[in-house]
Parts: sequence; C-alpha cells; structure tokens
Amino acid sequence: MDTSSRRSFLKKAGLGAAGLTLGGLCRVEAIGAEEENPLATRPLTGKVVDAHLHADAKSIDRCLQVMDDNYIRYGINIGVTGDKAFHRFISAAKPHQNRLGTMYAFDWSLIKKDPDFFSKAPDMLARAVEAGAIGVKSFKDLGLKVRDKKGDLVRVDDPRLFPIWQRAGELGIIVAFHTTDPKAFFETWNPQNERWKELELHPGWSFADRSKYPPRDVLLEQRNNVIRKFPQIKFHCCHVANNSEDIKTVSKWMDEMPNLHVDIAARLGELGRHSAKDGRDFFTRHQDRILFGTDRMFYSGGDIQGAGPSKRFTKAEDQWFYRVHWRYLQTNDKQFAHPTPIQGDWKIDAVGLDKTVLEKVYWQNAYKLFRLDRFGVA
Ligand SMILES: [Zn+2]
Repeated sequence: MDTSSRRSFLKKAGLGAAGLTLGGLCRVEAIGAEEENPLATRPLTGKVVDAHLHADAKSIDRCLQVMDDNYIRYGINIGVTGDKAFHRFISAAKPHQNRLGTMYAFDWSLIKKDPDFFSKAPDMLARAVEAGAIGVKSFKDLGLKVRDKKGDLVRVDDPRLFPIWQRAGELGIIVAFHTTDPKAFFETWNPQNERWKELELHPGWSFADRSKYPPRDVLLEQRNNVIRKFPQIKFHCCHVANNSEDIKTVSKWMDEMPNLHVDIAARLGELGRHSAKDGRDFFTRHQDRILFGTDRMFYSGGDIQGAGPSKRFTKAEDQWFYRVHWRYLQTNDKQFAHPTPIQGDWKIDAVGLDKTVLEKVYWQNAYKLFRLDRFGVA
C-alpha cells in the first residue's frame, strides 16, 4: 500500500495515525506461509529468555500469559523510567521474580531540574538495586535530547555520569544502552525515506535536523567510549548495538570490547536484510554475547509488537510474531516477511543457526549475564 492510499484507507476506516488494522493487513500473507515450515513452530531448544521487553505495572498478567503461550520462560523489562514508576512496577512484579526482571532507568530530565542530581544519582541506583533492579538502562534521549542547566546537550560519555556507571559495576549489575536509532531516522524526513511509514507514525523519531541532533556515528562512538572506559562492567547494547544495518562494524566492536553484549530486539527486519551467510557468521562468531529479544511491549493503553501500531493482539497474531523469530533463527528460508512490517517493505533471509548457538542465544547467554540462577529461573 503506498502512502497516499494508506492515508485514505486509514481515514475511511476512521483509524487516524494509530492505524491499528494496517499491521493486521500486512500480516495476512505471512501467517499461513510460515506455518509451512515445521522448524518454525517453536524454539528448537525449548525455552527462551526474552532479554528485551517492556511492561507496565498493570499489564504484568497479560505479559506473563503471552510469554507462557510462546515459550518465553523469563522476560527482562528493559528500563522503567523514574523512581515512582520503577518502584510501582517492581513491587507489582515481586511475586514473579522467577519470570520477570526489571532494569531501572534514570529520568535524565533531572539533570536539568535537580542541581544535586549528579551527586545523588549513584545512591538512587543503589536503592533501585536494593529494591530488585537487575540492570540500569539508558534510553536514547541521552546524547540526543537531554540538556544540562547551561542548556548544553549531555553527551553519552559525559564524565559527570561516570560515578553512575562506576556504582553499577560495584553493585554487580548490567548497564544497558539504547543509543541513537536506525540510520533512516537520521536521514531526511520524507516519503522517500525507507522507514517513512514508521516516521509518519512517530514524527518525533526523526533526528535528521543536524542543527538539533548530533550525527548518529558520533553518538555511537560516545557510547563505545563508555564501554571502553569501564572494561570491568558488562554492557547490554540494545538492538544489535543500534547498528544492525552494519553488522560488520558491530562485529569489530565486539572483537574490540569483550564486555559488549547485544540483543536482537526489533531488528530482525534489518538483520535479515544481510545475506544469510553474513548473518550466520555474525551469530556464530559472537554466539556467547548475543541475546534473544523482541521489544514486545505490554502497556495498559495497548501493546506493541516490537514496532508499529499499538493494539491488543490476538493469540494468533502473537504466535505469528514469535514464530517469525524462530523462523529467522532456525530455518534456512528465504525472502519471507519480517516481524515488524512498519520498519520497511522488504523480505528477509533466515540464518539457520546450529542448535548449540541457538541454546546460547535463547537461554544461556542471558542466564549467565543476569545470573538468573539466583531467582530460580528454570
Ligand atoms: Zn525497547
């Protein structure tokens, strides 16, 4: 569907920007097609840790149900921002410690609002860890939008933040970064942009304006500087270290920095654009530091499957979403629909990983990194 016919379709359907039905339409062909490969009906090694999902306190039961329906034994809620929301979530999730872990995320707007933020922050983190945080997550606003009292952008590698990372290391938790976004979000905002559908739905995700936002490679380098500076800390970089378009460069980073781990959440669309051989080589070479993740979001207002419109998904739609992940990782299928259609109109090629690699990506890597034995995860 081109942009203008999509707009008129949404208008007629009375759906507006959050075109709920569009995701469903894109998916029709894919649900039947993927059923044909018996290798894609379930994770071949049995159980899975989803190292990158999102949930709010009111959606925990639904989150657990969808996890149960799709072989996800443990999920990591990758960052609840601000003390209030974090503590609300962590107390609601307390009875499910063997199913759900949570990362704490700083409300970076405090840098501007609270004159003592930098001196207080390490203790704020310690309290979050005492309450049960298994990591600290920095969202993409750091580097792109967060400003200090002087009005200057705060760099990801700002030394004033070092005591936070230092404390995370002392507390033995993981530091997770989502820095920058897909390449296309830094390119001109127009219908020729290859992720126009997504940018049209979320105009605020365009960082093309160089007078406001630093270039993407500068931000990635700032994040890498932090990873280099703290070799004793284990870093979890979301979305293939936010550079799934260029896995050869990510591979070089992983060679250089043994403390760098990546998840694959919401990036199958990009990963599967590489040749099957390049994709398989990447997974095989870094098999001990790649984490399965989906970016499935469970919110009281509506859910999201990695990217795209917000809605309540049916059991079949969710099954389709997870099965495309199994299909990509486990089969050698070519040119099939990826799980996040709004991220681009192209098909992907699967990587057909060996069972030993699958076992690590689905389970062992996250299990070791987050020491899940302490919560009785099994
Ligand atoms: Zn996410």
